[in-house]
Amino acid sequence: MDQSISRRGLIAGGAAASLAALGPVALGMAEESLAASADYSTQALVIGGGFGGLCATAHLAYAGLNPILIEASVRCGGAAFFCSGTMGIGTNDITWELILQNSQFAEPALSAAYMEAWDEFGEWLQEETDAPAVWDGKYVKVGGDEFASPEGNIEFAKYMVSYIEENGGTVLTQTRGFELITNESGAVIGAKAYDAEGKIITFDAANVVLCCGGYAAHKGLLESFMSPYGSLLGTRTSPFNDGAGLRMGLSVGGKMARGMSSFYGHHIPYPWITTTTPEEWNEKIVDDAFIPQQQGIFSNIQSWGKYCIYVNQNGLRYGDEALGDNVLCQLTAQQKWCRAFVILDQNIRENKVGKSKRLDKERIEIIKDAGGTVLEAETLEELAQKLFDEWKVPKANLLRTVAEYNEAAKAGTAADLVVPKNNVDFSIPIEEGPFYAVVTVPGISTNYGGLVIDTSARVLGANDEPIPGLYAEIGTAGGLTYDGNIGALSSIISFAWLATRDIIAKSA
Ligand SMILES: Cc1cc2nc3c(=O)[nH]c(=O)nc-3n(C[C@H](O)[C@H](O)[C@H](O)COP(=O)(O)OP(=O)(O)OC[C@H]3O[C@@H](n4cnc5c(N)ncnc54)[C@H](O)[C@@H]3O)c2cc1C
Repeated sequence: MDQSISRRGLIAGGAAASLAALGPVALGMAEESLAASADYSTQALVIGGGFGGLCATAHLAYAGLNPILIEASVRCGGAAFFCSGTMGIGTNDITWELILQNSQFAEPALSAAYMEAWDEFGEWLQEETDAPAVWDGKYVKVGGDEFASPEGNIEFAKYMVSYIEENGGTVLTQTRGFELITNESGAVIGAKAYDAEGKIITFDAANVVLCCGGYAAHKGLLESFMSPYGSLLGTRTSPFNDGAGLRMGLSVGGKMARGMSSFYGHHIPYPWITTTTPEEWNEKIVDDAFIPQQQGIFSNIQSWGKYCIYVNQNGLRYGDEALGDNVLCQLTAQQKWCRAFVILDQNIRENKVGKSKRLDKERIEIIKDAGGTVLEAETLEELAQKLFDEWKVPKANLLRTVAEYNEAAKAGTAADLVVPKNNVDFSIPIEEGPFYAVVTVPGISTNYGGLVIDTSARVLGANDEPIPGLYAEIGTAGGLTYDGNIGALSSIISFAWLATRDIIAKSA
């Protein structure tokens, strides 16, 4: 660790003036309890270096607050490395109507704050930084002509780290936050973390912003909140996201939001084609070539699943595939063993699944090569037999499900099925051999549940009052939505913006 940026170093380097700007209460509390012992001191500590944490810290650095960002893994960027879509919602403006259309449980006050903050962030990024990104009034595009690309995301993350460092901030990787420190009044005045050697280090911080994602990688929390089989869910984000932010917030009196069993994600092939341990993530994420490769694998099924049918362990359909993979995913999490079998035929394989442009390879082959399971058979009867022999799916149920679906698809009546498929464009009969079954589980990108926050991203305590000094962006907080995706990255960044806007205003 670079001790030149230790507490004494920072103060000697001019941070004393910034500390003084905190005002007597915050500074006094910090001085009282942490001044002598802290390894680092700052006006704002950001925990977690995904795009939310990077944007939060950049904003604080821009305002001259000498922030410190700690990131548990070896590299900042998090799940956003793998995005190929948009920072925005789908291909639309972020409007209240669209938010409601995508999530009937969206929370009005938080949604309004989100819309406002997204515009402010976009304008700031465009006007005040040289980030390799274009703000077009709706989206932040980091992928050149595309909305986003793994290469664009890598450049954006690198730029943000250098922007932070050039503007007086500090980025510490391999530093994992685990405990918040409060004073006698319950205000958060710092945090503890493990450094790269596993040594405990202490941060004296007038404000702490939790940007450390959700609990996708905590098997126990997934079993508690999602399903008894929650430990079988996959993750599409950092395996460091073990709910530390949620647990830290709760431990100082933060409240838990609704929606703890809901998430944004997509089906991923099983066995998991993801990095399941922090060690594996650290080893792979440093390689720029790994990122687009993994992106191509991750984003696979989400693009074509709606043309197929998904059956559960009992061989039964359980949701409208046409609603989209990310919506169906939440229902899959409620099925036995959180498992879905995606059933398709050669016609769908050739005409709807096709090839990945990024990996220049047939998508079904990508799954097989990545270690996923694809069963293949010349007839539906044989496929059903294989599904029974290898995965214990009842054969008669599977055959009945496909036969009923095929009949309805041909008659244009799939919307009348017991489990309707409402969009006829996606209702294609499965009848041309060979036939395939892809074994999948949901992969969580971000949890919708988390800590309760207000419209300034302040974490609320039991009495609905903000806990002084504690903020959380929406990856760690919850309550913005409980079902549909209303923009994962854009909401994460927007709440990081709201938190830092409040800190900057307070510190002025
Ligand atoms: C293939 C793919 C495509 C996607 N496409 C889109 C898209 O088109 N549009 C969109 O909006 N979203 C998309 N997403 C989703 C989006 O990328 C994620 O939802 C979002 O980036 C998650 O952000 P987060 O802050 O919750 O978590 P993360 O990005 O994982 O950030 C959290 C960070 O905190 C660190 N951390 C965790 N615990 C600690 C701790 N205790 N101390 C310090 N650091 C810690 C982690 O290592 C991580 O770096 C996509 C995701 C994937 C995988």
